[in-house]
Amino acid sequence: SQRFSIVVVGDGAVGKSAMTLRFLRDQFHDEYDPTIEDSYCKHVEVDGQEYTLDITDTAGQEEYRGHWNDKFMRAGDGFICVYSIASMGSFQELVGFRNQIWRAKESEEVPIVIAANKSDLEQEREVESATGEEFAKLSNAFYIETSAKTGFNINEMMIELVREIVRS
Ligand code: GDP
Ligand code: MG
Repeated sequence: SQRFSIVVVGDGAVGKSAMTLRFLRDQFHDEYDPTIEDSYCKHVEVDGQEYTLDITDTAGQEEYRGHWNDKFMRAGDGFICVYSIASMGSFQELVGFRNQIWRAKESEEVPIVIAANKSDLEQEREVESATGEEFAKLSNAFYIETSAKTGFNINEMMIELVREIVRS
């Protein structure tokens, strides 16, 4: 089967590790070690085709702003850019991550999904859906609201990213 490398980026505490664990094992915990960066492998079927996904859950995101990491980013076939709907600051950080992806890939047509996570925290929302959608449009990316806590749209997020990679 085809093998795709997927990189999950975003500000600290937005739920990158929680989303990764939800996707891999359909589990959710309250606490994750914020310093752990690891890669995981999962086989999926999308639109009748088998794929092997290598998923890197990044941590210590400040290092990802440096040019030295472009090589690592270049190895990604698709990217999940995560923010929390309950944190405007985490949304504002996304532009930097997206720019680094574009720079590393030397293209503005890169398979990216913008994941607006923690959608279960509607009462704490700081970022309107329309704001996230607009950024996704400007980024040639797919926008989706997710919750690692409830599992809402986590599989759909990965399916859409695989579709984008296949189309690219
Ligand atoms: P990371 O630093 O981006 O990897 O974030 P984590 O996965 O460590 O999550 C940070 C905190 O947010 C943890 O306490 C998680 O339990 C919590 N969290 C992650 N995803 C969600 C979600 O979808 N909803 C809610 N309510 N909490 C979440
Ligand atoms: Mg983490």
